[in-house]
Amino acid sequence: MARHLILRTVTHDLLPVRSLLAMMLAMILQTIPVGPLQCNCSILGDEETGTAIVIDPGDEAERVAGVVRKLGLTVSHIVHTHAHIDHIGGSAEFKRLCGGKALLHEGDQWLYEHLEMQGQMIGMSITEAVALDAKLQEGDRFDLGHDKLEVLHTPGHSPGSCTFVIERDGRQLVFAGDTLFAGSIGRTDLWGGDSEEILSSLRGKLMELDDDAEVITGHGASTTIGAERRNNPFITGQYRI
Ligand SMILES: [Zn+2]
Ligand SMILES: [Zn+2]
Repeated sequence: MARHLILRTVTHDLLPVRSLLAMMLAMILQTIPVGPLQCNCSILGDEETGTAIVIDPGDEAERVAGVVRKLGLTVSHIVHTHAHIDHIGGSAEFKRLCGGKALLHEGDQWLYEHLEMQGQMIGMSITEAVALDAKLQEGDRFDLGHDKLEVLHTPGHSPGSCTFVIERDGRQLVFAGDTLFAGSIGRTDLWGGDSEEILSSLRGKLMELDDDAEVITGHGASTTIGAERRNNPFITGQYRI
């Protein structure tokens, strides 16, 4: 009951839809924009088992850990959509505070090894890279209560970019990182970015998901796969990159 109360009272400036969906699915979902670039860090929890998977604790680790504690959750995994510093920069401290196995796709190993350089370029400082426990791979599935968070490898924004999908009661919830935004897509002019690859990840994988799948993007508002399939100019082909 306490957790229901928390879900009902938390509102989110940018993404009010997500807490409604989370309530419907009896899943705990808190998305917190963190750091100077406001990366969407998500805490995905299961009410029944009290476990959580945390996605992209890029900054403000203490604040994110505080929410995890308040919700009474135990972190099993810390997963990263990719290794840009705004998505992984707070992970070392978050792991120290909350535990959990940290995972990243090996395609982003170079970015992971150059976090300090990334920080210098965007004015973020980092003292330590999170110790990784394993590699993320296409098709990996992580337990969250009775459900599984599944990994899709969706390169293009970076070589190791991944999207996470969880399905409960027939509804998909998608964490797309910087591969897909509401009305836009991730940039491909950064280290290892590839515009052909991002389009093939979007068209070949993300657009294969359900029309009503809700997408938590890497920055800014959430969206649905159906809305992007119909209106996103990069996906419809109206804009070319
Ligand atoms: Zn990025
Ligand atoms: Zn980002």
